[in-house]
Amino acid sequence: MTMLIRGGTVVTGTGPFKADVLVEGETIAALFAPGLGPSDTDVVDATGKYVIPGGIDAHTHMELPFGGTFASDTFDTGTRAAAFGGTTTIIDFAVQRTGENVHDGLAAWHGKADGNCHIDYAFHMIIGGVDEESLKAMDALVEHEGVSSFKLFMAYPGVFYSDDGQILRAMQKARENGSMIMMHAENGIAIDVLIQQALSRGETDPIHHGLTRPSELEAEATRRAISLAKVAGDTPLYVVHMSASEALAAIAEARDAGRNVFAETCPQYLYLTLEDQLGAPGFEGAKWVCSTPLRSKHESHQRDLWKGLRSNDLAIVSTDHCPFCFKDQKELGLGNFSKIPNGIGGVEHRVDLLYQGVVDGKLSLERWVETIATTPARMFGLYPRKGVIAPGSDADIVLYDPHGQTTISVETHHMNMDHSAYEGLQIRGKVDTVISRGAVIVARGEYLGRKGHGKYLPRGLSSYLS
Ligand SMILES: [Zn+2]
Ligand SMILES: [Zn+2]
Repeated sequence: MTMLIRGGTVVTGTGPFKADVLVEGETIAALFAPGLGPSDTDVVDATGKYVIPGGIDAHTHMELPFGGTFASDTFDTGTRAAAFGGTTTIIDFAVQRTGENVHDGLAAWHGKADGNCHIDYAFHMIIGGVDEESLKAMDALVEHEGVSSFKLFMAYPGVFYSDDGQILRAMQKARENGSMIMMHAENGIAIDVLIQQALSRGETDPIHHGLTRPSELEAEATRRAISLAKVAGDTPLYVVHMSASEALAAIAEARDAGRNVFAETCPQYLYLTLEDQLGAPGFEGAKWVCSTPLRSKHESHQRDLWKGLRSNDLAIVSTDHCPFCFKDQKELGLGNFSKIPNGIGGVEHRVDLLYQGVVDGKLSLERWVETIATTPARMFGLYPRKGVIAPGSDADIVLYDPHGQTTISVETHHMNMDHSAYEGLQIRGKVDTVISRGAVIVARGEYLGRKGHGKYLPRGLSSYLS
């Protein structure tokens, strides 16, 4: 089947231009100057719309077990919601907890995703226990399983935590096999002391989740990770869910020195704050408990994060989508903030929320497309199959309407959540049509996709390194 996407403005990392896009089967066949494409084919009218590569959300947690419950989106519900929001690929995290086997963990995640996804998907691997066996498994995953990035944790002792020696060993292994180390950079040992002290003072409300995870401890861990990566032989390092100015400054310094050091942020850190959301009255703030935490609006974090996106000190915006319902799930932490499952759901809203940054003059059109699609593809070994509108690439394409309007609400979202972290927020733009490997899966709000359409994407090594 062929179709011509006609009359739109294609946006890539090098800028917008008028072009018609010919799709044949699952891939992009050609780009034509306006009006010069074939006439004997189905036409999708893109007049007045941006034609962008499908979004790639490089950080999601469908069905993640956490704190005695599971993230409320399955691979079925979560990838369908992602599609509605213009995301056509997710990279989720398969999990090895401390004491478990890496290959078993990866197999378990394949079991959850296989046949259930509406869009294409890939995996990073969480290494929760660095030892001889898991180090060997890292090689096998890179070579045979299409998993070329490994997440380590400087927080959550006893569950995911790695000490500095373990981190160094995993980084040395990654240096050998060419993979990327992703880091949850918070000093969890110090944070756990602050949590116990707060609880013993009777400080149990959700806001204390944020107050016991100060930005200094994100910055300290970020700096330590950067140093360890250098000692390991300049292992490529990618710091996830960055929320603090001081941590971003450490990334900028390493990048100025020419290091392969990268970071992502998430929409929640660009739009939400410690005071307005996490500090909401009563237990309401539990909706916004995530780690790293939302930061104070009285400090420079949000302004610096937007600036970092413009300057490419922040390379990518992912969601860290990890939804929990308020009822029965977030409520596990009633009377004790440390028992609130950590996570915010947002896989459906990332493309819109970052487009609002364009409307607000905080981001260029080019950086919008780079941070949500092109750079994730390059960073994580999916380029040029994904992340770009070019002949030979998968036909993952979003028609985005800059004249449309989106109101984010639990009433209209498709995620399996009983609330929205962004309730009532207005976006001056709208996802119009979503195409995944040549199939139209969303058209003007109507769902045309199906469970099982999404395929596993084995990834190569990063093509973003200098
Ligand atoms: Zn994390
Ligand atoms: Zn995460």
